[in-house]
Amino acid sequence: MSVRRLRPLMRLGALLLLGACRDATSPAPANETTFDIELRWVGSKPTGAVAAAFDAAAARIDQIILNDLQAAKVGSKEAPFDLTKCSASMTGTAALDEIVDDLVIYAKVEAIDGVGKTLGSAGPCLTRVTGGLTVLGIMRFDSADLTDLANKGRLNAVVLHEMLHVVGIGTLWRRKGILADSGLATVRVTGPLAASACVNDHGGSTACPGGAVPAENCLNLDPALTCGAGTIDSHWKESVFQGELMTGYLQTNNPLSKMTLQALADLGYIVSLTSAEPYTVPAPPAALTSGASAAVWTPAEALTILGPPLAPRFVVDDLGRMSPIRSR
Ligand SMILES: [Zn+2]
Repeated sequence: MSVRRLRPLMRLGALLLLGACRDATSPAPANETTFDIELRWVGSKPTGAVAAAFDAAAARIDQIILNDLQAAKVGSKEAPFDLTKCSASMTGTAALDEIVDDLVIYAKVEAIDGVGKTLGSAGPCLTRVTGGLTVLGIMRFDSADLTDLANKGRLNAVVLHEMLHVVGIGTLWRRKGILADSGLATVRVTGPLAASACVNDHGGSTACPGGAVPAENCLNLDPALTCGAGTIDSHWKESVFQGELMTGYLQTNNPLSKMTLQALADLGYIVSLTSAEPYTVPAPPAALTSGASAAVWTPAEALTILGPPLAPRFVVDDLGRMSPIRSR
């Protein structure tokens, strides 16, 4: 029998094994036919606008992503998965022995250091060997900053931005082989669907030459904007895309473009484009069209500087075997 014909049988066998391993206390997969984010709170669940922002972001992504991902076994009775392996902040949660379908996010909102310092961090922790997409991710934020962002009208955008990091924007580009020239001035995302959207949907033929979308390289930015490891290589380039949701800095209006939705498709998700928001790549600032590499783009309004997303730490294979991802 060919490898091509064997593979579905192997997957079926793996799923049957997963089913056999599930004990009476493990929850059944939440949804068998569509993509589903399950949000779990660590510590007390926030109230009001903060809770609403998380729920809205999860519902939005559930609508955007259409495919049911392969169920993944996380932990076992003998070796339950300790969430503090993802982040030391995730204390007090029971170790995991369950089957995840499709994505579980552990979220924690707590007092960290007050307004304007550490906002928090988010990203995938555990990804699938098959397909490479996220199984389990974490989001942790400073409660003072979230209250401040709500007052500024930026809370929903920040939470959606960070949840999209968990799903894979900026955090899975390298592992999926669509990040070129990492760490260099020419760093770019080579996902063909995102690049096509940049050119054909957003007027970015100058911004996105050669079938690629420029990623953040920390060049051409106002010196007042902090930019470093983590922001670099994991966002769209701010001086080119400015207001788009997945640059590393947020304005008051931050449209979720077709380009970002197509970047999800480039990662392997099946996406609906119907909820994309109108977005046009802005004309390059005059200082940048002169070709001077030291020229900077100065924002017209005070921006919210977002922190670096978390990189995935573990992979899990079809049989539930986990391996740590070696850091570069
Ligand atoms: Zn970010």
